[in-house]
Amino acid sequence: MKKLVFVGGGHAHMEILANLDRMVGQGYSAVLIAPGPYHYYSGMGPGMLGGTYRPDQIRFNTGKIVRKAGAVFVRDYAARIDPDRKRVYLGSGDWLAYDVLSCNAGSQVPVDMVSKGDDGVFTVKPIERLRQLQAEIILRASARRIRIAIVGGGPSAAEIAGNIWQLVKTRGAKMPEIVILAGKGLLSHFGRGIRQRVISLMRQRKIRIEEGEYARAVSGTGITTGSGRSLACDLAVLATGVRPVSLFRDSGLPVGPDGGLPVNRFLQCAAYPDIFGGGDCIYFEPMPLPKLGVYAVRQNPVLLHNVLAQLEGRRLKPFVPGKRYLTIFNLGGGIGLFNRGKLTFGGRLAFRLKDFIDRRFMARYRALE
Ligand SMILES: Cc1cc2nc3c(=O)[nH]c(=O)nc-3n(C[C@H](O)[C@H](O)[C@H](O)COP(=O)(O)OP(=O)(O)OC[C@H]3O[C@@H](n4cnc5c(N)ncnc54)[C@H](O)[C@@H]3O)c2cc1C
Repeated sequence: MKKLVFVGGGHAHMEILANLDRMVGQGYSAVLIAPGPYHYYSGMGPGMLGGTYRPDQIRFNTGKIVRKAGAVFVRDYAARIDPDRKRVYLGSGDWLAYDVLSCNAGSQVPVDMVSKGDDGVFTVKPIERLRQLQAEIILRASARRIRIAIVGGGPSAAEIAGNIWQLVKTRGAKMPEIVILAGKGLLSHFGRGIRQRVISLMRQRKIRIEEGEYARAVSGTGITTGSGRSLACDLAVLATGVRPVSLFRDSGLPVGPDGGLPVNRFLQCAAYPDIFGGGDCIYFEPMPLPKLGVYAVRQNPVLLHNVLAQLEGRRLKPFVPGKRYLTIFNLGGGIGLFNRGKLTFGGRLAFRLKDFIDRRFMARYRALE
């Protein structure tokens, strides 16, 4: 029996999940390895933090989907891949053999700046972590005015700040002092119009933005900046960007400059053609891609086609990332910021559009449960 093994049930494996029954029907053994039964949809993560969505509205029950399709769900994590013996070793020490392997194990926020065991520091990934952050904010901000420092200058820092503001406002707690330590600048990679809109909204809400300085050390009680300045806080959130999981490096596989699995235009590892990958865990060799769910979602049909084609000796399809994509930030308070190419607008309509798109995406794949 030919064996397909899938590592992680993330955003790039959704179509594989939707077609597992077909693979099982064709007589293949299909196994999905994931550390927990649920996969959280990151696009709605900040909304969950802000209280717009309940956790169960933003997650897929991957375990249920896999079992319903007649495939095997292994609740564990892939600790190492042995590409020569074609095995995946699990955290438990067991191993699984594969003929074709596809990896969608995602990324993590580096915590090199944080001292070990500091429970006052929260990372924006895994998305589940935002549930604990929410509980902690409610607990602490009910008693007194706290200070929350958000480290990072990208969209997730802005979304987290805006949704903390929404959370506290709707729960009637004491509004914390929210500070974004934005490094080079908040949304410095975006156009002036987008940046100015976000900054002016944050200012209206008295969210402070510190630009031109990077954090060097972060703890739950304070941040030390590159210039040696100290910034006291009660909670810190790391939104400093992500890095692919260490699985490939730990396995001694070749890795790209970001530590991701290097893949060619077929989403295939050239050194080991039976290994494929998608989403944040890969380094797309033809052109490095930003770590965005948009690309993971676009890779779905290609990954589905190619893992089966490789197994059956058929021709592979190339992945074409596409130039433009739609982004809508959820800035909290029912306000969104829409951007596609030259078109940018902010306000309630932008948020409603995001909410509609995200709920539709969830409904499509939750129907598999
Ligand atoms: C707060 C926030 C908001 C975002 N909003 C957007 C947005 O609106 N639009 C957008 O395009 N992008 C957004 N992004 C970026 C987006 O989150 C990522 O690009 C996306 O999550 C990548 O999907 P993925 O499936 O590759 O990885 P992940 O979402 O990280 O999923 C990986 C999965 O693999 C599992 N896994 C990890 N390690 C192992 C292992 N060793 N063995 C087995 N399984 C494993 C994990 O449990 C997880 O379920 C946002 C990011 C953040 C942090």
